[in-house]
Formats: sequence, structure tokens, C-alpha cells
Amino acid sequence: MTYDRVDVPDSGEKITIQNAETDELSVPNNPIIPIIYGDGIGPDVAPAAQTVLSTAAEETGREINWMRLYAGESARDKYGENLPAETIDAIREFNVAIKGPLTTPVGAGYRSLNVALRTELDLYTNVRPTYYLDGVPSPVKNPEQMDMVNFRENTEDVYVGIEWEAGTEEVQQVREFVEEEMGYDEMIHDGPVGIGLKPISEFGTKRLVRKAIDYALENDRNSVTLIHKGNIMKYTEGAFRDWGYEVAEEEYGDEVITEDTLWEERDGEAPEDAVVVNDRIADNMLQQLLTRTDEYDVLAMPNLNGDYLSDACGAQIGGLGIAPGANIGDGRILAEPVHGSAPKYAGQDKVNPSAMILSGRIMFEYLGWDDAADLIRDAVEATISEKYVTYDIHRQIDGGEKVATSEFANRVAEHIERLA
Ligand code: NAP
Repeated sequence: MTYDRVDVPDSGEKITIQNAETDELSVPNNPIIPIIYGDGIGPDVAPAAQTVLSTAAEETGREINWMRLYAGESARDKYGENLPAETIDAIREFNVAIKGPLTTPVGAGYRSLNVALRTELDLYTNVRPTYYLDGVPSPVKNPEQMDMVNFRENTEDVYVGIEWEAGTEEVQQVREFVEEEMGYDEMIHDGPVGIGLKPISEFGTKRLVRKAIDYALENDRNSVTLIHKGNIMKYTEGAFRDWGYEVAEEEYGDEVITEDTLWEERDGEAPEDAVVVNDRIADNMLQQLLTRTDEYDVLAMPNLNGDYLSDACGAQIGGLGIAPGANIGDGRILAEPVHGSAPKYAGQDKVNPSAMILSGRIMFEYLGWDDAADLIRDAVEATISEKYVTYDIHRQIDGGEKVATSEFANRVAEHIERLA
């Protein structure tokens, strides 16, 4: 494929999908990896992450050939639009990419640029690992107990954006349909009302839960917990739970056991190597995150629950400056930090690049570069442990040195060289 305004590096090779059934990639040692710097603090944290990721790759005998793509403000400058088709096409072609945060401009014609990217590329799983790094200040007593991986559905639920504004012709039509044709009269209050739809499908649920169970099996995790409000929303969230169990029971044989079977047939004793699938109601789960932290492992949930739950998990291990994420589809990944573009800090070389660096770690794991991924984790931990930290962590600890985004990244790179 040829591109108008993307400079494809002269050297380096493309990552390709080797086996579409298993999503297995063919990863050369010198891949071309697209990167979107993003808006606000994106141009601060993205180059910092590049420094660290390139160093980790080199120290493990590889070389990354970066390819800049554009979305948001940088795309408006270059293309006159927020999300150029070339950007989508290039991620589709190169399969593995990383991005900084994007601001959605008012009146852009998108609910959110991030949602548009995830939808266009069918990146249906949002993965957010939350684990503790030594030295990171936390509001809880035992932050080291947090080691969960959130799998949040990315393409449906109330976030899909089917909603109608109060006072419009459309909302009136929906109201009439609901009240007159469906017979739910007197359930919607009189006067102005906004109405939204909450689609949760068997297809969307099962492919998400499959990803979570596959991850648990591949990474020796003990359990996958389906999180839902199925006690109230029976045909959406309750269906999510039921379809999740169906996947577990019908597709994995002895590799997976449900919590009910575990107690009915095995007195709670899980077979070695089997993943236990259980479910929890979302409000209960929000308190269990705090009270029974070490009992949970991999979490799978619809879009809205996932948004809330993963931020709550993130808070326990140090917050937004640290929390990494990735959007994953079939054979394709777009890694990105959980945080946004924090415009008030843009261009100040001030914010914490750890979230973007650790998002790169997820991308490396996806490539099968576990050695480089572990080096990144250990080097970020070593840097924070010696209290060489950005403002957000510095304000929460005693002593230490407050450093710039770039200084922090350079130090992480030095630690990688030392540890390699
Ligand atoms: P935000 O950009 O995440 O920033 C909120 C606060 O979090 C910051 O003021 C800062 O707190 C802290 N923070 C965020 N990133 C940090 C970092 N790297 N290091 C240290 N502290 C960090 O959230 P927002 O202000 O609500 O959103 C701003 C824009 O980002 C919006 O347009 C939103 O739509 C967009 N957004 C994009 C994404 C994405 O691209 N995936 C995600 C979320 C939001 P203190 O000031 O207290 O230090």
C-alpha cells in the first residue's frame, strides 16, 4: 500500500498475521511500528516511550523502525481532518501500533476520536493490566495485592452512542414506540427526557470473554470473573453473564471450570492448571477490589462497567500517570495509556510517561517479546524506587528528585541497559 503523507521507513519489515485462526503473528526482529503521538501531553510522553521501547528492543537484539501516523490536532495540521483514512489503513496494514492520548474537539462529528479508532479497527477488547510497582505511592495499605487484568468490551453497551436528545423529534418517536407499541406506558416521566439504547450481543460478549479466558490460560492465571449488573438488567448484563458462562462451558473442556461446578463437584478444590470462571455483580465487585484484592485475577466486563472498574483498580496502584492499556482485536493491537491529553501540562516536559511506556510493555508482550517487556517493567520500577520521579509521584512521597518527562525516560533507559 502507498501513502500520501506517511513516511514509511526505508528499513524494517512489516509484522504480519501468520495464522488468522489463532491470531498468531509473524514478528521480524526489525519491525516497523506505527506511533501516534496524540494531543496535549502526547508529544511529551510518546517520544519518552519511544526512547525506552527502542532501548529495550536493542538490548534484546531487536530494532524498532518507528513510523509516525497522525490523528487529532497533528492530523488537522497535516490533512485538515481529525482521523485521516491513511491512519486507519496503516494500522490495519502494520497490525501493531501505539498511540498517545487524543482530545476530541467539539463539533468534530465524532463522539470520541478514541472510540472512532477502536470501532473502525474493530479493536473490541480494551485490556488494562493493573499491577503494583515498588515505590509508587498508593492510597491503600497493601497495593502489592493488586494484580488484575481488566478485559473491557469496546464496541457496544451504552457507549455505542445510540441515544436521542431531549426535545427532538427522534426522542418523541422512540417514546411513542416504547409507550404505545411496546406497552410501557407511564414508565417514562412526562416532560423532556433523553433516551439511550444499551445493546449487548452474544457475538460481542463471547469474543470478549474468549479473549479473557485465552489470556488467563496462556498466562497461568487462576480465574476469570464476569462482572455485570444482571440482577437488574437481566437481558443485557444478565445475558453477558450467561453468554460468558456458555463460552467457558462449551469451548474449553477441562481447561476451564465454573465456580458452581467447583463447589458442587470438587468441594472448592480447583484442578491444577484449570481456570475458574465465576461472576460478580458490579457494585459488590467495586468493594471487593478493596476488601479481597488478592482473590481476583482476570476480569471481563461490558463497556461501562469496565470503564469504572479499571479506573478503580488503577487508583489502587498509583493512578493515571502509571496505568497502561491496549485495544486488541483479531491479530491487531493499538496500545495506549489510560490517561487523557491533560492539556494544561502540554509541552512542559513535566508529566509521567510511565503509563505510555508500560502500554508499550503490553505491546511487546503481544509480540512475544517477553524478555524486553520484563526489562521495561523492572527498569520503571527501579527508577521510581530510587525516587527519581515526575511531579505526580514526587508530591506524594518524602524526599526524592522531581524530574522532567524526558529525564525520567532517559533514566529508565539507563536501567534497561544496566539490567539487560
Ligand atoms: P486526563 O487528561 O487524563 O487528565 C486528568 C488528570 O490526571 C491530570 O490533570 C493529571 O492530574 C492526571 N494525569 C493524566 N495524565 C498524567 C500523566 N501522564 N502524568 C501525571 N499525571 C497525569 O483527563 P481529562 O482532563 O479528563 O481529559 C483531557 C482530554 O483527554 C479530554 O479531551 C478527554 O476526552 C481526553 N481523553 C483521552 C483519552 C484517550 O486518548 N484514550 C482518555 C481519557 C481522556 P493532576 O493535575 O492532578 O496532576
